[in-house]
Amino acid sequence: MAYVFTHATVLDGTENMEPRPNMTVVVDDAGRIDKVGPAASTTGPLGAREVDLAGAYLMPGLINAHVHLCGSGKPMSAGGAGDLIDKVVGNPVGMWVLRRMIRGHAQAQLASGVTTVRSVGDPGFADVDVRDAVNAGKCPGPRLLVSGVGVTVPGGHGAGLFAHIAKSPEEAREVVRTCFGRKCDLVKLFITGGVFDAEVEGEPGVLRMSPEVARAAVEEAHKLGMVTAAHIESAEGVRVGLEAGVDTIEHGAELDDGLIALFKRNGAGRSSSLTCTVSPALPFVELDPEKTKSTEVQKVNGRIVYEGIVRAAQQALAAGIPVGLGTDSSCPYITHYDMWREVVYFERLVGASRTLALHTATLGNARILGLGDETGSIEPGKAADLIVCDQNPLDNLEALRSVRMVMARGRLDERPRVKRIPELDAELDGFLPKAV
Ligand SMILES: [Zn+2]
Repeated sequence: MAYVFTHATVLDGTENMEPRPNMTVVVDDAGRIDKVGPAASTTGPLGAREVDLAGAYLMPGLINAHVHLCGSGKPMSAGGAGDLIDKVVGNPVGMWVLRRMIRGHAQAQLASGVTTVRSVGDPGFADVDVRDAVNAGKCPGPRLLVSGVGVTVPGGHGAGLFAHIAKSPEEAREVVRTCFGRKCDLVKLFITGGVFDAEVEGEPGVLRMSPEVARAAVEEAHKLGMVTAAHIESAEGVRVGLEAGVDTIEHGAELDDGLIALFKRNGAGRSSSLTCTVSPALPFVELDPEKTKSTEVQKVNGRIVYEGIVRAAQQALAAGIPVGLGTDSSCPYITHYDMWREVVYFERLVGASRTLALHTATLGNARILGLGDETGSIEPGKAADLIVCDQNPLDNLEALRSVRMVMARGRLDERPRVKRIPELDAELDGFLPKAV
């Protein structure tokens, strides 16, 4: 069905966007934006459905560049999660349940205004199946870019959870070929540990994957035409990742001039990018360890990781390195409806302007994910990935907290319903940084 949005105040997602009042946006019946223009001179096709926005803000759907779709965000110890996954993978009923959960979480992202999700590590390739079901029109959902399972090493992050273990460069290539065979969109590497598996204070993000294994995995992925993303929480890990040619560095740590130069050198004329994820680190800093089901050591390490993530994002922005945004949903306290919080953190903790924060969550992320011609802005020819907000996010980004309507590739949800987890919301609101 074709749609005509009238009396829209358009925020188009570009770098210097400003609200353009009284606009008409036409969406054709193939789910693409057909026209964007002033109300007086823009009309839709006969039979199109008119949606009068009465001045509300129409903008591109958000893009969440770092998601795990298997968990809800309710805190669970790492051991508990591992036991659960063991019961599920390799058992048909378990896989059916897992796919259903992943589909539900993807739909929660959508209902919260996220029209594109990059999933970066889930068990059993269940995210691949859900992506295919959405693309085939069998169920509503956001556009999904999926990594399936990731590549890790013995004792590495994600081992036995959402990553396959490679004991050698050749085994790493083998895992990559498996992902390619399962038609994953990208390859996820786990180069360092994380907060949950650091055993000593001051040692989060310890290097686990050897440079040889990282290089083999990236080389094989690039040979097969796949991009790579790597979980990294230390400067040493960033170096290994960049020297291996990783396309997107996830999380990050404080950079130096050498690392900044490496970012810019990578990717055949294109810089590698940094994905900023404040959301998973902040609860460790702000909440009692018992709430995040973590230990005192993990809390100390959580602060180190948090400071590294914020600093790296600031340094990358200053150096002109592309910076994306993602939530790391499924980590403790990271739900599937809180991308808006990451956008707020990017403004209030990293120091981005509101315009830059909104641009990063839309067209900026789209470009980093290779979707710059397909989504992320309101322009004729692009997919109709749109959200409607009652208030102007450029006045206060908290306007993104609840969206009035969501359209994903031309499919309109006029009453998106988010099933919230009130006890998590209350904790998170308790340390929401104040508007600047
Ligand atoms: Zn992650």
